[in-house]
Amino acid sequence: MDKTQKIKEGLMLPVMEAFYTVQGEGMHTGVPAYFIRLGGCDVGCVWCDVKESWEAEKWPILGIEEIVDHALIYPGRMVVITGGEPLMYNLDPLTTLLKERGFSTHIETSGAHPFSGHFDWVCFSPKKFKAPHPSIYENADELKVVIFHKSDFDFAEKHAALVKEDCKKLLQPEWSKSSQVMGAIVDYVKTHPNWKISLQTHKFMDIP
Ligand code: SF4
Repeated sequence: MDKTQKIKEGLMLPVMEAFYTVQGEGMHTGVPAYFIRLGGCDVGCVWCDVKESWEAEKWPILGIEEIVDHALIYPGRMVVITGGEPLMYNLDPLTTLLKERGFSTHIETSGAHPFSGHFDWVCFSPKKFKAPHPSIYENADELKVVIFHKSDFDFAEKHAALVKEDCKKLLQPEWSKSSQVMGAIVDYVKTHPNWKISLQTHKFMDIP
């Protein structure tokens, strides 16, 4: 099987970076985790802080055994697959292997591609720049909407109406706009208590 076919089947993946840190945002804030950042994204958020991830071709293509072996070096057993947009790839083989090796598997995704993989936790962060694929709604455990502008509350509610009833709903200020939107977010959760606030605490901690 050649490399292209292996990428297509999810047996090899472009890895932009992988590192052990602490999950800084969302429902698992503060938990040590090994992050696997896959290269490639076609969503095009204007405020994206990892634009260098967009071109998959720039990053080394690794076999899933090698990816999992690196994760096993560290004591934490929570893995977060992120990007880029990780659902551009078939994540069934990687997540199967991670679970076989004892990891709890998490994903951070915009949901812009069909869902794949076996996950213990799915964080769905929809973006205005590319509509989510419908398969994400039944799989999302956490809906995390980045608030860049006050109009984003309507966008958040539109997706909240489509996720499962027990899906956690979080509003997170976009880092560079935090001072402009924070007051509105605080007011919003106080009047809409089914939402809570997520902060990018890793940026305060100055860790990746
Ligand atoms: S989906 Fe994520 S990686 Fe892709 S452009 Fe948006 S913020 Fe950047």
